[in-house]
Amino acid sequence: MASGGVGKEVLRNKQVMLRDYVSNGFPKESDMYVTTNTVKLNVPEGSNGVLVKNLYLSCDPYMRGRMKPPTQPSYMGSFTPGSPISGLGVAKVLDSGHPNFKRGDLIWGLTGWEEYSLITVTESLFKIHNTNVPLSYYTGILGMPGMTAYAGFYEVCSPKKGEYVFISAASGAVGQLVGQFAKLLGCYVVGSAGSKEKVDLLKNKFGFDEAFNYKEEPDLSAALKRYFPEGIDIYFENVGGKMLDAVLVNMRINCRIAVCGMISQYSLEQSEGVHNLMNLILKQARMEGFMVPNYYHKYPEFLNLVLPYIKEAKIVYVEDIAEGLESGPAALVGLFTGRNVGKQVVVVARE
Ligand code: NAP
Repeated sequence: MASGGVGKEVLRNKQVMLRDYVSNGFPKESDMYVTTNTVKLNVPEGSNGVLVKNLYLSCDPYMRGRMKPPTQPSYMGSFTPGSPISGLGVAKVLDSGHPNFKRGDLIWGLTGWEEYSLITVTESLFKIHNTNVPLSYYTGILGMPGMTAYAGFYEVCSPKKGEYVFISAASGAVGQLVGQFAKLLGCYVVGSAGSKEKVDLLKNKFGFDEAFNYKEEPDLSAALKRYFPEGIDIYFENVGGKMLDAVLVNMRINCRIAVCGMISQYSLEQSEGVHNLMNLILKQARMEGFMVPNYYHKYPEFLNLVLPYIKEAKIVYVEDIAEGLESGPAALVGLFTGRNVGKQVVVVARE
């Protein structure tokens, strides 16, 4: 039963809407628009949903797939043109019809790209208990990307001390953490990224052993050979395409490739081919795709590991903060041109 504490107040509700499906090509800011509707600040009678005020929204590459028409494959269902887009975010509960949530609770999970949302699917919501960290971290290091780095590295890569680890899109939400986990374990870690600023971050802030700008390497295989003369034990795959092919010819025996994402392919009409797969046989390598929701049962275990790391500054996290819902469309499409430096967050409100 709704607590009804906020009464029947009606407020203006700014929203980011999808204009139309985007089948192919890079998404553009103009594929979305910002509009203002109204919202009643209470959960409807009989609903077991929660009415939240959105604070921080997460820009994630999988959202490109949700802009495609429902006929094209994607991680999750398509957005609806003319409706607000949705994604992961941090929010404050204003009213609740659900016994597990009450007014004042902080949560992260799937919400709308708008100021206030009525969330009816509450199964995906996580309650935030630790507020001694920036709340925006629950869109990144302490949220889905953090869990992705944790599950992908520790579970899928089966890493061992001293192994040679390569990470693409290494300065992003997931990559910066994978690299730091690998360093903490005692691996040799190299990352690739798309600008000098990001390469500097990798080496000077995140403690990678080496990093390179893939856009300045005419021969990616030669670049990898330079950094891994003995070959790669673990590749954390975030980009796909030519980088994957270059890794395949630079693997060590028993190499593991954790296929987390392939952002270079998300906007193409036809995926690029992969040519060097036979090396999987020659190197007796394992290449495995994974989806983070399958590991959410390990979230408490993950927090136990990462919260102390943050407190002791053994792990640092870089965010790229866009202010205001209006900046959301540009922030989201910026992921696909590498405009973001670190985890891309949109601030809707700070409290
Ligand atoms: P992110 O790295 O914070 O942002 C995306 C970055 O990708 C951009 O900043 C850009 O960095 C790079 N990029 C964009 N287009 C590229 C291209 N054509 N070629 C090479 N790099 C390109 O994103 P994230 O949230 O950490 O996600 C990283 C990957 O993990 C994505 O592929 C995503 O889909 C995947 N993911 C998978 C799961 C799962 O459950 N499997 C969960 C979360 C994320 P540069 O400047 O370095 O190019």
